[in-house]
Amino acid sequence: MRLKNGWTKLGIGILSIAILCSIAFVSTNWQYTNGVLVDYSDLRQVQPRVFVAADLDDKLVDSLLVIIHEAKNRNEEFWNSTVDLPKIIYCHNQEMAERYTTGNAHAESFFTVFGRHVVVTETGLNTDIISHELAHVALFDRIPNFKWYMMTYRVPVWFDEGIAMQVDYREIYSTEKYLRHTDNGAKAPTLVSMASISDFYQPDTLGWYRYATSKHEVARWLQKVDRQGLDQLIQSTTIFSDFDEQYQFIEAAAEK
Ligand SMILES: [Zn+2]
Repeated sequence: MRLKNGWTKLGIGILSIAILCSIAFVSTNWQYTNGVLVDYSDLRQVQPRVFVAADLDDKLVDSLLVIIHEAKNRNEEFWNSTVDLPKIIYCHNQEMAERYTTGNAHAESFFTVFGRHVVVTETGLNTDIISHELAHVALFDRIPNFKWYMMTYRVPVWFDEGIAMQVDYREIYSTEKYLRHTDNGAKAPTLVSMASISDFYQPDTLGWYRYATSKHEVARWLQKVDRQGLDQLIQSTTIFSDFDEQYQFIEAAAEK
């Protein structure tokens, strides 16, 4: 009897902690939670994994689906393999954007233990932005193990953003503009200074330099190491290896 009571108390204790943790998670990450629970929301699923407001205009739905299709194709060409769509939530107004994003103007990718989803706002409704977000998801999907941990703590943000920028053809990040505004790279930020999440996404006015430099660096590296080099780097992104070492090692091997 005592044993049973002990177990019951332990069970209630664990359950209470789990409930408290869930409440804490939901209250501090409610935009995440809204996205994770999108299947149970009042949104309309217009294609498997694509969600919009129930009353969204059909013409807008059509153009959204065309853009998603183009972005998926662009990614499959880049990755040279199938790219699985995450859940995509399109927010056609500010009110809906506030429900699903944490403030990024164009689009945002979310990675949780419950899966990954991309939220696109009105200003993100174009092939460049959606391709960019799909590339983040595709890279995440290809990391062999401990994906969330690896992408948060071990893969430098400049690499993640640099990869996403390879399928993002926005003119403001062109090579010509990068070279001009950084004085041929002399004024570009160093890779070390934009490796962590807090360093890369600083709320300063230098965001453009970080994205443009990341794009330029990854393009330079890819030109040397090619598809095989990228596959090799991703496969070797494990808790036992050092990312920067692998990145340099693969480039050095390609030069031989
Ligand atoms: Zn990005």
